[in-house]
Amino acid sequence: MKNENLNELRIKNLIDGYTFDKEKKQYRCIFCEETYDEGYIYEYNGKMVSAEKRILLHIEDEHNGVFFSLLGLEKDITGLTDIQKKLLNLLADKKTNKEIAEEMDIAVSTVRTHKFYLQKMKRQAKIFLALMETLKIEEHKEKNVNLESEDKEQFETDKMLSINSLHPFFTQYNLK
Ligand SMILES: [Zn+2]
Repeated sequence: MKNENLNELRIKNLIDGYTFDKEKKQYRCIFCEETYDEGYIYEYNGKMVSAEKRILLHIEDEHNGVFFSLLGLEKDITGLTDIQKKLLNLLADKKTNKEIAEEMDIAVSTVRTHKFYLQKMKRQAKIFLALMETLKIEEHKEKNVNLESEDKEQFETDKMLSINSLHPFFTQYNLK
């Protein structure tokens, strides 16, 4: 998964591990771009499965599930420290605080502190996401209100040009 694709994905897509293209009627894996067409029946281990079921099986088989695929992304993308990553790994394996403490060679109270901090990060990430989404909406409103129809066309053209000419890293800030 690339950074520039990430900006286009919703939280739901990240949790599901796939997107659904309504026009193409296609499910697409967010990790490898593999697609499955809706309306087709796929054979899987001697069973017939729907496209949606097939992509879920694909994510399990090829990517070890959504959780570990997301966790395995580069540090630059996840923003997680090695300790947080390790902790999340152990939590996914349903380890108790005591087991985690032993495995990480830290005190049980430290495990609790780490877990508390993860919850705090989650709340902060929500607020940050809401702020960024609100900012996007406000920017959009402002532009639409101030533009006459002719300018609006120019604006759309400019937007297209900037999308096509800029490095992917920058286009994520211009899109939408
Ligand atoms: Zn895939």
